[in-house]
Amino acid sequence: MKAAVVNQNSDGKVEIKELEVRELKAGEALVDVECCGVCHTDLHVAKGDFGKVPGRVLGHEGIGRVSKVADDVTSLKVGDRVSVAWFFEGCGVCEYCITGKETYCRSVKNAGYSVDGAMAEQCIVTADYAVKVPDGLDSFQASSVTCAGVTTYKAVKVADVKAGQWIAIYGVGGLGNLAVQYAKKVFNAKVIAVDINDDKLQLAKEVGADLIYNSSKIDDVAKQIQEDVGGAHAAVVTAVSKVAFNQAVDSLRATGKVVAVGLPPETMDLAIVKTVLDGIEVIGSLVGTRQDLAEAFQFAAEGLVVPVVQKRKLADVNAIFEEMEAGKIQGRMVVDMKAK
Ligand SMILES: [Zn+2]
Ligand SMILES: [Zn+2]
Repeated sequence: MKAAVVNQNSDGKVEIKELEVRELKAGEALVDVECCGVCHTDLHVAKGDFGKVPGRVLGHEGIGRVSKVADDVTSLKVGDRVSVAWFFEGCGVCEYCITGKETYCRSVKNAGYSVDGAMAEQCIVTADYAVKVPDGLDSFQASSVTCAGVTTYKAVKVADVKAGQWIAIYGVGGLGNLAVQYAKKVFNAKVIAVDINDDKLQLAKEVGADLIYNSSKIDDVAKQIQEDVGGAHAAVVTAVSKVAFNQAVDSLRATGKVVAVGLPPETMDLAIVKTVLDGIEVIGSLVGTRQDLAEAFQFAAEGLVVPVVQKRKLADVNAIFEEMEAGKIQGRMVVDMKAK
């Protein structure tokens, strides 16, 4: 089978290689991959930003059909459509795994990083961890929900906004656009979109943002939000910028909550006085559990959330990385395994 493999130097490029599929072990299933999205995280892995993994098959936004299961598997059967997500497997027994926080398992395995992923014609999964895709959800859209969708759905869930409350989404690119959709259509919140790009803000408005702010054109966006709506009840920050994190804190009303999703390699400023006097909460949110993914899939299957995707072929992965670095990508690039 063909696969996109991190090259020997781990210098940000992949090689398309012909690999043998190994025999299934107990608890595993073989998936014939239909499609797999290309994510910024794949580029980080290919560059060795989390440690070099030469020879690793990339891909954690895979969707495919089960073609074989090990003898002991009962959770999947041949023909089931399943996903291959970044959260590939937890230990199943630690305090995180048994309290609904499995993505924080200290022995977690991540597809396309610590185990071979789904940017390949076939992928082996741990059957009990491969979340099924509901009928009626297009595989290419499901691919996007597997990563960006569940990440933003979970972040809005963690933000804990009630219907009618204000939530500010900082950064409305690929991730943020989905955050706007989940916040508006699933949680019935009032949504503020903040970005420095007018095109992205316009798209955010089209998918449901009530208010949009271009923070590069407004003196103090946090102050403006305070004036316009009395401050947000919560903020989700997908922007990879320290400035956005600071603005998010300042745009909250008392007892508001900031959910951190973006990963700028910096520290954020947090005024202790405001944090104490206003009872501000700051919390990180990492992808989502199997249950979160099942929920995120269901809302997409119902048509409440529609990811923007574009089909590409496996041989395009390096070109997609270049487009990503140049900031040229709108929506998600998804590799169609059947496209030649
Ligand atoms: Zn991803
Ligand atoms: Zn665990």
